[in-house]
Amino acid sequence: MQLDPEGEDDELDQEDEWQLYASADYASSEIGLDEKESEEDKPVETWFDGDDFDFEGSAVNWDSPPCPAPLGIAHVIKIGVCDHCLSRISGIRSRDIGSDSGAAIRDEAYSRDRELQSMIIQDYCPLCENLFDDIENIVDRVLETLSDTDFSTIQFGIHLPKDLLQEEDRIRTKYGAPGSYHLKGAIVEAIHERIREQDSEVDFVKEKPDVMVLVDGLTLRVDVDVRPIFLYGRYRKIERGIPQTRWPCRACRGRAVGCDSCEGTGLQYVDSVQDLIGEPIREALFAEDTSFHGMGREDIDVRCLGTGRPFVLEVKSPVKRKLPVEDLVEMVRSKAAGKVEVDELSWCTRKKINEVKQSRSEKTYSIRFKAEGIDDYEKAKESILSLSGQILDQETPKRVSHRRAAKTRRRKIISIENVYFEDDEVEITLRCEAGTYVKELVHSDEGRTKPSVQAVLGKECEVKWLDVLEIHAD
Ligand SMILES: [Zn+2]
Ligand SMILES: [Zn+2]
Repeated sequence: MQLDPEGEDDELDQEDEWQLYASADYASSEIGLDEKESEEDKPVETWFDGDDFDFEGSAVNWDSPPCPAPLGIAHVIKIGVCDHCLSRISGIRSRDIGSDSGAAIRDEAYSRDRELQSMIIQDYCPLCENLFDDIENIVDRVLETLSDTDFSTIQFGIHLPKDLLQEEDRIRTKYGAPGSYHLKGAIVEAIHERIREQDSEVDFVKEKPDVMVLVDGLTLRVDVDVRPIFLYGRYRKIERGIPQTRWPCRACRGRAVGCDSCEGTGLQYVDSVQDLIGEPIREALFAEDTSFHGMGREDIDVRCLGTGRPFVLEVKSPVKRKLPVEDLVEMVRSKAAGKVEVDELSWCTRKKINEVKQSRSEKTYSIRFKAEGIDDYEKAKESILSLSGQILDQETPKRVSHRRAAKTRRRKIISIENVYFEDDEVEITLRCEAGTYVKELVHSDEGRTKPSVQAVLGKECEVKWLDVLEIHAD
């Protein structure tokens, strides 16, 4: 009857994709100083014919051995390596970081060899294509994009051209000190460092960030994805005729401008539980949109009372994410008055959606129906009470057969508590297993539900209304 929540799976996929670019796997591969020194102290190895031999999987040119040998440092300076990359692959630890450290190593190399500076073949770093020069620019753009956005954690990803990565890896493996930090991790670190200088509060995380930033190393394009936030609560629907989730207009399929039949709203029903709760919150948090994840759902014409139905509201791309929940509850209260009620809300994680969706709770209902021609109320009451504790066989109801596979469900009527008569109308309170079709239990759906109230009374039953009195969750 209503649309299933959309976009959930897509979003998870998207997240996976992000993870591919993310910095999660750049764990530092720097080696300790001791290890580096012992590398130099290695006993002289046997020479092979020819100039090169295999050294840790790569050919070593002894005119330019790997860093931190002075000849190695001189070689990478000659081929144009920038101060950032020099620091990264030199294998020399210094108190300075980044380019300052590289500059110091360069000065030292120049003082060893006065000719060196004139032998540099290009001012274009073959390891990073001068990407480190763009760090400030990248960070400015990230912070500019996020200037109005609340966030305390960021996850960074950088996308670099494959050929650059391969070339960088080749040079670093051949001339760099063993265990040198790779380009991707080093750039992400440099970005972190630069951001920390401007905002010391921000945390860099490898999962569940407030914002994800993807930088394209080729075009320097910066994509910022503000991650959704989640609110858990329980709603009571105290007015009939309201669908749980937003329901697009049947005529125009919910296009933004709507049509005549939906008076331009794009909606089949102007109100929904989703929007009565979600819209005031969306507006307060300057968010893009919401998704609504309920613990099951009631039909449009069914109320939901008691302590209400558990739900998770997903707030997408919120600009603000730090408002007190009490304020949000207050906003819902004024917007949804007389239709939907929420007593409290709490922040939760995406995980809560599954918890809510997978929960199978018993429910207590109150249902009123018309059954003409009952002459003996006592006997009728006994017949109805005889259903208490019985197992129902319910074929997929006619009214939902267009969207549900045909099958027979077995559901238990846990108990029937009250039976009231008023002229030719009957009201009963009953508790059922999750997934029981309660209206069908009364009118039998042309015999598709067995047994049924209609069958035990021997009178045609017509449902007047149904309320969910309690969802026995938790
Ligand atoms: Zn470089
Ligand atoms: Zn329409």
